[in-house]
Amino acid sequence: MQTVCCVCQKTKSQTGWIHRQAGKEGKISHGYCPDCFHRTMELAQGWLLARNNGNQGLALGR
Ligand SMILES: [Zn+2]
Repeated sequence: MQTVCCVCQKTKSQTGWIHRQAGKEGKISHGYCPDCFHRTMELAQGWLLARNNGNQGLALGR
C-alpha cells in the first residue's frame, strides 16, 4: 500500500518522500508527509487562534 501526501502528492518510499507520477500502484492511502503535516498543524493552530480571538471579540462586544 502506497501512502501519498494529499497536499503535495509526494509518495512515501523506502528512501523518504519523493515526487512520483500517480500510477498503477494499486492501493493508495492518503496522508501527510512530515513537511505538510507540520505546515497543516501550524495552519490549524492559526485557525484556532483566529477563531478564539474572534470569540473573545464577540464576548467583549456584548
Ligand atoms: Zn506533502
